[in-house]
Amino acid sequence: MNAPNPRDLWHARAADRIAAGIDGRMLVNGQRFNATDGDLFDCISPIDGKVIARVARGKQADVNRAVEAARAAFNDRRWASRSPAARKKVMLAFAERMRAARDELALLETLDMGKPIRNSLSTDVPAAARCIQWFGEAVDKIYDEIAPTGHDALALVTREPVGVVGAIVPWNYPMLMASWKLGPALAAGNSVVLKPSEKSPLTALRLAELALEAGLPEGVFNVVPGYGHEAGEALALHMDVDAIGFTGSTRTGRRMLDYASRSNLKRVYNELGGKSANIVFADFDDLDRAAATAAGSMFYNQGESCNAPSRLLVEEGIADAFVAKLKALAPQYAPADPLDPKTVLGALVDEGQTRTVMGYIEAGLAEGAACVAGGCRALEHTGGQYVEPTVFDHVRNSMKIAREEIFGPVLSVIRFKTEAEAVALANASDYGLHAGVWTRHIDRAVRVSRALHVGTVHVNQYDEDDITVPFGGVKQSGNGRDKSLHAFDKYTELKTTWMRIDAA
Ligand code: NAD
Repeated sequence: MNAPNPRDLWHARAADRIAAGIDGRMLVNGQRFNATDGDLFDCISPIDGKVIARVARGKQADVNRAVEAARAAFNDRRWASRSPAARKKVMLAFAERMRAARDELALLETLDMGKPIRNSLSTDVPAAARCIQWFGEAVDKIYDEIAPTGHDALALVTREPVGVVGAIVPWNYPMLMASWKLGPALAAGNSVVLKPSEKSPLTALRLAELALEAGLPEGVFNVVPGYGHEAGEALALHMDVDAIGFTGSTRTGRRMLDYASRSNLKRVYNELGGKSANIVFADFDDLDRAAATAAGSMFYNQGESCNAPSRLLVEEGIADAFVAKLKALAPQYAPADPLDPKTVLGALVDEGQTRTVMGYIEAGLAEGAACVAGGCRALEHTGGQYVEPTVFDHVRNSMKIAREEIFGPVLSVIRFKTEAEAVALANASDYGLHAGVWTRHIDRAVRVSRALHVGTVHVNQYDEDDITVPFGGVKQSGNGRDKSLHAFDKYTELKTTWMRIDAA
């Protein structure tokens, strides 16, 4: 008998998992609950439009319950008072449980938001586990400070956990974005209430179960699924939440600042949208590599990445050849079944997102950009959400498709003549998340990197950065930094203790 093909295998696993029932209840104080008012929402898979789970629709009362549990856990110091080495042990066990549950977590992520199973398996689960591990390993290697005083004083500068952290995260990398908050917040000794996106709540709930199994005390990590204007707003307005770690759109990030000002001035750390410029100079000698990366980083995750290099700035002299390469590469990214391990571009998260992306494609055409690849919906017979990888040439920076974040597989090519023009175009954006620079001239690489007003510059690569470096933006891309030791800054407060030392 022939071995089953891998695609059929994942479909069989998906069918079994859905038939077994996916628990959509919230997780508070170590236990699963329905929403207080019993309300539920449908979790619809964008792969085929089918309902895969019914999930608790958390609201104010549920958020109150979760924040109370988190506060009680923080106040009795069941987690915060443990030594960093003891917290590390639990964090490492948590990461191991995530790795052991790789197939299940990857399947839930793919079913929930449509990314290819190959990426969930190779990137989302390992990167999320690595993040939890990394912050666990880091926390017992960080020292506090003693200030330079005279002999009559001893002054300590110590870091303390902020208390109760509300984490509100998006749907594009549900588990990874949650882990970028959970890693530093939990390792530092805080309690967390996580509100996953209503479009992708499933892995967050499993993560909380795995953390409990790993030995995280009850009440330290709580998950309340629900809508932004209900559970999200209740959490961000809560008077007993000390900090919000938010990742999502600039529109909602604006609200976070408003919620904080209307409530207890909680710290708000915003990681928001982007419209990143990827600049290719004619002197870069490996245009095949530059083109493959430009397309690969753009179409990865269906273009639903905050740092997607969605504005491709190409020097005039090589632009025709470069666009020809992109055109030739596009078919490699044809949308296909996310449960097929061969698929590299899966489904957009939902019908609304598909409409948004198609609206931008229409706007590009209406404003006179040249669509040289894609431009259409695909696989409509499946009932799922698929859009072709799309490349627009002759885009002007003033066009809507160059100014606004599309969050779909749409690449805008803008041609430039001089280095100064490239920098000016790249910086002419409300956003400032990432940028790319391709050049063999070291002077130019440094000069342009310095001139770009963004959080991260990629030189002769894109997306190769890892957990050791900060991730975040400037301007309307936000103010927070995830990843790296700097992430601890968000979830700790500095305390000064100044002691007078009397002479003997
Ligand atoms: P979104 O702002 O619509 O939602 C993000 C989260 O906020 C969700 O949990 C949602 O339920 C909640 N929310 C929505 N409205 C709310 C409200 N009124 N009050 C409180 N909470 C509310 O964003 P999205 O569509 O889920 O995610 C896509 C966005 O996330 C893109 O703009 C993308 O660039 C950004 N993003 C940024 C980063 C980064 O690190 N900078 C990483 C990933 C995604």
